[in-house]
Amino acid sequence: MRKIIIAFGPPGIGKGTVGSALSKEMKLPLISVGDLLRDAVKNQSGIGKKAENYMKKGELVPDSLVFELLNERISQKDASAGFILDGFPRNQQQVIMLEKVFIDGDICFAMNLEGSDKVIIERLSNRRICEKCGAIYHLVNIPPEKEGICDKCGGKLIQRVDDSPQIIAKRLDVFKNDTKPILDFYKKKGWLYSIFAEDKLSETLKLIHKVIH
Ligand code: AMP
Repeated sequence: MRKIIIAFGPPGIGKGTVGSALSKEMKLPLISVGDLLRDAVKNQSGIGKKAENYMKKGELVPDSLVFELLNERISQKDASAGFILDGFPRNQQQVIMLEKVFIDGDICFAMNLEGSDKVIIERLSNRRICEKCGAIYHLVNIPPEKEGICDKCGGKLIQRVDDSPQIIAKRLDVFKNDTKPILDFYKKKGWLYSIFAEDKLSETLKLIHKVIH
């Protein structure tokens, strides 16, 4: 029996931060499709080269590339008891793909992290990530101990290229047009929990603990 947790929500709402905390608590790997893609771009792999331009523009990367990365990742041994998905599925085709991944006995929780555009834009503009390990910081709410340096691995903290105001607007559009409509599918299955995610991490986690176990 695997436990599969899906983190939904607009860019910047905290899917990665919440997912990372849950990953430690539940001892399940956090699989961030955005991170897998950023690694592929950094390594200039075949998939990375194809994905780069879409990501720079804030558009969704073609499904076939995403499927390949995801399939490879979820077939690894550490995902055999389940996993937490950040940033997948993001459209109808990806919902269909994920349906094929489920096996009898799997338990799925889909959490929809919610917050206003104002909070999202504030979080994205203050977000910094470690270029080496991908750890996420917020300049005010989750600052690193040493400015510009990752607490976990000593890597350099950078701003993501797609965290600029123009690209943020595009990514919010993609979320509203492509991703939001698929929430209904999980709602009908009784798997969807809406979580108010504007407060600090500990408060959001309290709400999640009430519904996900
Ligand atoms: P994220 O790190 O989740 O904000 O994703 C960053 C970027 O990676 C997105 O703007 C997309 O270009 C791409 N991406 C991440 N997840 C997916 C996905 N499931 N399908 C297609 N593109 C994705």
